[in-house]
Amino acid sequence: MRKMEETPLSWTSRAWREVDGRALAHNARLLQGLLAPGCRLMAVVKAEAYGHGAVWAARTLEAQGVDAFAVACLSEGVTLRRAGISGVILVLGWTPPEQAPLLAAYGLTQAVADTAHGLALSAQGVELKVHLALDTGMHRLGIPAEDTAAIAHIFALPHLKVEGIFSHLCVSDGSSEQDRAFTARQLEVFYRAAEELQQRGLDPGALHIQASYGLCRLPPQPCQYARPGIALYGAASSPDLPLGVAGLEPVLSLRARVVSVRTLPAGCGAGYGLAFQAMEDRRLAVVSIGYADGLPRALSQRGGQVLLGGTRRPMVGRMCMDQLLVDVTDGPEVAAGDVATLIGRDGGAHISAEEVAQQCGTIANELLSRLGPRLPVVPLV
Ligand SMILES: *Cc1c(COP(=O)(O)O)cnc(C)c1O
Repeated sequence: MRKMEETPLSWTSRAWREVDGRALAHNARLLQGLLAPGCRLMAVVKAEAYGHGAVWAARTLEAQGVDAFAVACLSEGVTLRRAGISGVILVLGWTPPEQAPLLAAYGLTQAVADTAHGLALSAQGVELKVHLALDTGMHRLGIPAEDTAAIAHIFALPHLKVEGIFSHLCVSDGSSEQDRAFTARQLEVFYRAAEELQQRGLDPGALHIQASYGLCRLPPQPCQYARPGIALYGAASSPDLPLGVAGLEPVLSLRARVVSVRTLPAGCGAGYGLAFQAMEDRRLAVVSIGYADGLPRALSQRGGQVLLGGTRRPMVGRMCMDQLLVDVTDGPEVAAGDVATLIGRDGGAHISAEEVAQQCGTIANELLSRLGPRLPVVPLV
C-alpha cells in the first residue's frame, strides 16, 4: 500500500475512498493502446467518475493526454469547466432546451436525443455544438440510424453545429452467438448511416460507438472516439463478464476505521433484529461505514467481507446506516483505529468491486457510482 498524500486527519478518521492516480493513468494508456490510429479516448466521467471524483479523474486523465470527456448532464459538465478542464465535454443525457445558453456559455457539446430534442434546441437560437445520438438497436436514445432523412434534417437546422454522430452498444458484454450478431448489426447500421450522410454531402464529424466492452472486446474501430467508463476505473461490470483485456488496475479502494472491539457472549445477539446470534463467545469489530455511505444494506447478510490485518473477515448481522459489524474471532488481533478494507488490497488479500457487486446482485458500475458524498476522496501519491 502506498502512502497517502498529506491529508487532513479528518479525511481518514471514519470511512473514505482512496483513488490511485497512477492506476487511472495506467488504465488510460492501456486503453489508448487498443485504439485504431486517429481514434482517441473520450473518458466517461459521469456520476463523479463512477464514484472516483470527476474533477480528480478528469485532471489525472488530462495529464495523460485525454482531451475529451463525457458526462451525463449539464451540471456535471459545468463542474468540469469550472475546474478548468478544457477539452471536449459531451453531455450524453437530455438537456432541457431552455438551458442552451448555459451549454454555449460553458462550451459544452450536447447530445441530441431525438428529432424533437434537436428541433427544440435549434429553436433556442443559440449556437450549439452537438453530437447526434443514433439508435442502432438499443432503443433508448437516438434518431433511428436507418432514417437518413431524419438525420439529415438535423444537419440542416439553424444554430446546431453537428460535430459528431454516435451510438451505444447494448449487448457488447454478452458472449452468445446472438449477442455477437446483434453487435455486428449495430456496427453495420452505424457505419452505413455515416456513409449515407457523406453521400448526401454531409460531414458526420467524429464517430463513436464503443463503451468499455465494445472497446475491449471488438477489434479497433474506424471511429474518432471510444467512450470507456468502467474499464478506465480498472473494473469489469461483473466477475461473470470479463472485459477480456489483461492488466487493468483497480483505481478505487474503500476503507473504514474499526471503532470498537467487543466480546459477544455465547447466547447473545447483536445489531438490529439481533440478526446475528453467537453460539459461542465471538469477538465483534464495529466498523464505521454503512448503507448511507452507498454500501448496499444487503451485503452484510449475503457473504460480505472486509479485510483486516491482511485477512478476510465476515460481516455479520444487519448493516446499519453508519456502521456494520464484523466477526473477528478468527485471525490476527484487531483493535479500535485499525483500517478495514471493503474494496481494495490489504497485504496479500484483495476484495474487488466486481465481487462485492455480485454479492449484492448488481454490477460494479452501480456499486461504485453510488458510493456516497460522505466518503472523502483521498488521492494516493
Ligand atoms: C455510461 C456510458 C458509457 C460508458 O459505459 P461503460 O460501460 O462504463 O464503459 C458510454 N457511452 C454512453 C452513452 C454511456 O451512457
